[in-house]
Amino acid sequence: MTDAVTSASGVLRESYDALLLDLDGTLYRGPHEIPGARDAVAAGGTSDTEQVLYVTNNASRPPEKVAEHLTELGFAASVDQVVTSAQSAARLLAEHLDAGARVLVVGTDALADMVAEAGLAPVRSFEDEPVAVVQGHSPETGWPILAEATLALRAGALWVAANVDSTLPTERGLVCGNGAMVAALRTATGRDPLVAGKPAAPLLQDALARSGSRRALVVGDRLDTDIEGAHAVGADSLLVLTGVSTPRDLVFARPDHRPTYVGETLDALNEPATRSSVDGPSGVEVSVRGDEIVVSPRATPAPDVRVLLDVARAAWANPDVTHVRSDDPTLAAVVASWRL
Ligand SMILES: [Mg+2]
Repeated sequence: MTDAVTSASGVLRESYDALLLDLDGTLYRGPHEIPGARDAVAAGGTSDTEQVLYVTNNASRPPEKVAEHLTELGFAASVDQVVTSAQSAARLLAEHLDAGARVLVVGTDALADMVAEAGLAPVRSFEDEPVAVVQGHSPETGWPILAEATLALRAGALWVAANVDSTLPTERGLVCGNGAMVAALRTATGRDPLVAGKPAAPLLQDALARSGSRRALVVGDRLDTDIEGAHAVGADSLLVLTGVSTPRDLVFARPDHRPTYVGETLDALNEPATRSSVDGPSGVEVSVRGDEIVVSPRATPAPDVRVLLDVARAAWANPDVTHVRSDDPTLAAVVASWRL
């Protein structure tokens, strides 16, 4: 992790030359923009040194479709700015295989196209003698193709998973993600795949390489993918509280899930870094008594996110902590809202 460096203006994003943005839970939720996300990202449009890349673990759609969806929602996204786990999975395959090698695709035609673009031959049957299996999310995946993959893996094929997200967010709620289908093959074969997507390093490494960044900020809503991925590539990270991970997850986060900054929304990008920095100046008095953190106000009220950061910092330094409370009614309400 790089040392915290503050730009002359102190604005968070100005200390970085690239933003590696997660999509779901960070920029949009299903078909809808997260309120304010578009304007927050666009606010950096005046900078000619800042690169913005859209980095997604979902391997089911080609980069063109991802860019199209982002553009429909009002984000300034070209195809070149989209980095998908399908692209990284294909890159990993190409690194391990000879040109033209046959790869069994468990996933969408978009994933098969990526495999072909990488100079390999996508196939859909064990009878085609694949030397590798690549697995990415597709709503069409069923037993027959999993059976083909099981045969290939048991025969010794290389196995690459685009991602291992256990769940996939939909408008109806969380459903089984690619990781759940990977688990089926893991159970059937006793093997483990190479993984392209976050929290594994390849996808973020590809995004860093494409941006040419020397100092990138990873931005996302999940501690166990986006933030852990940032740790894996040694980048700083901003957690936004608009998606999956909650204040409770943050307070009890293990070391490799702890972000550099936390924002209630993406507006944190355009605010002073000290407001969202885990190492920023504290806004409340925090004392630790046994397994309890007690929060007390100062003369100047602190923003809610600053209270959360101060408590998280105390909890990370004191692993025995299980409770947080405050005798101040305003702070007690803030603490209660975290549902610890
Ligand atoms: Mg997300």
